[in-house]
Amino acid sequence: MADVTNFISGRFVGAAGGGWLDNFEPATGRAYGRLPDSDERDIEAALSAADAASVVWSRTPVAERSRILMRVGDLIERDLESLARAESIDTGKPIGLSRRMDIPRAAENFRFFAGAALHARSEMHRTELPTGDSALNYTLRQPIGVVGLISPWNLPLYLLSWKIAPAIATGNTCVCKPSEVTPMTAHVLASLLVEAGVPPGVVNIVHGLGAKAGAALVSHPGVKAISFTGGTATGSALARVAAPMFKKLSLELGGKNPNLIFEDVDLDEAVPQAVRAAFTNQGQVCLCGSRILVARRLHDEFVSRFIEATERLRIGDPLDEATEFGSLVSAAHLAKVRSYVELAKQEGGRVHAAPMPTLNARCAGGFFHPPVVVSGLAPTCRTQQEEIFGPVVTVTAFDTEDEAVSLANGTAYGLSASVWTRDVSRAHRVAERLQAGTVWVNCWLLRDLRVPFGGVKQSGVGREGGEEALRFFTEAKNVCLRYPAG
Ligand code: NAD
Repeated sequence: MADVTNFISGRFVGAAGGGWLDNFEPATGRAYGRLPDSDERDIEAALSAADAASVVWSRTPVAERSRILMRVGDLIERDLESLARAESIDTGKPIGLSRRMDIPRAAENFRFFAGAALHARSEMHRTELPTGDSALNYTLRQPIGVVGLISPWNLPLYLLSWKIAPAIATGNTCVCKPSEVTPMTAHVLASLLVEAGVPPGVVNIVHGLGAKAGAALVSHPGVKAISFTGGTATGSALARVAAPMFKKLSLELGGKNPNLIFEDVDLDEAVPQAVRAAFTNQGQVCLCGSRILVARRLHDEFVSRFIEATERLRIGDPLDEATEFGSLVSAAHLAKVRSYVELAKQEGGRVHAAPMPTLNARCAGGFFHPPVVVSGLAPTCRTQQEEIFGPVVTVTAFDTEDEAVSLANGTAYGLSASVWTRDVSRAHRVAERLQAGTVWVNCWLLRDLRVPFGGVKQSGVGREGGEEALRFFTEAKNVCLRYPAG
């Protein structure tokens, strides 16, 4: 058994109440360890540790904080192989993906914010008024204090480190609540934080259920800001609790992202990229291009080539090096995806599921679902409007650029979009009109850590990444120093 514990004030401890939850390996369907079933007592302990560490950490010179963060990045890189394996066992994602994307990006998050905090500058203005008064204005960006960081199960270490790194680089201390579905790599990270020299209490990790441990964190008056990544319904519930307490909130929520394919594209390039956008991590990336909109002239050829490419995806044991498509994250999520496939049929869609290969004995009870392509659905039906967050993609034909944009914008979400065209003018025109936090042109998931990241509409509030994250995790204070008269 591989048990996970809470990490409070530099110590590895169980839940105050002594309860445990099972942790499953989704590819086998079996529990392989436990995590603490924490409640408000554990949150209280973690918050008081974070509060106690806050004074010293916030005054630790930024160069020292930066050195410590760099070391965390190095240690993640040193342990890349074991972390990648742990992430794949915990999530069901192919080991190659963990090794190529999740773990290296977690290391980069620490390195990036180590550098960004070091190079952050204050703004200064000399002010001269007609009255003759003159002053020097400058802006201090001060840490908020104790912040709450809540992360989901799809990119567990990557998304948690994306929050921890800017939070502590800017001098805050934090209490983290990783997803109860995938707690393992957060637990491993805790040991690396100790080894890197992060002082006790600067990062605290409390495991457990969202409705219990997560809710206790959000409602606690000692938490001054919450950075949350997860579902739109959870984000909305959380905002209702946090808003009356005037907490600063960053909400990174769901998506139903359009992938627009215009008639001038080279399908040899666009089809494999559309497959990648739809089915990376079994469609469990918030940025997945789950709604393909394709020029009518290309529609039939696109659908048949897309299905062919989908059928070539190697589905299998996430720990097998050759696997490109692993298992879904949980039994509950598998049931949700199945229910949407049934719904798509009821709504009149042509549903094509790739054949499932025979899996090895280890994976016989795993939560696998093949990639599914649905065409012929009305844009307004639920399958096209609601986030499935799994391996189900819809394909819809459009006739004009205006129609493509209106279909793309025609959901409650606005996280990301991709546009495929060789026409540069059209690329700029369409990118400007799309309601999304990120628009990729002739690519997907090409991420630069310096650029802002977030969603519009029901995909979220606020931005993470680069300068935006440094701003979120600090309070700006203006100091106005009047020059003496004369
Ligand atoms: P979720 O909302 O169920 O859970 C996310 C986190 O919130 C978990 O740690 C959970 O324990 C916690 N939580 C649940 N209820 C809570 C409550 N009442 N108070 C406080 N915390 C609570 O989401 P999920 O199923 O883990 O993740 C999938 C969702 O995340 C999808 O909708 C996906 O689009 C979204 N997501 C968004 C982004 C983004 O950057 N926009 C990135 C990844 C995932």
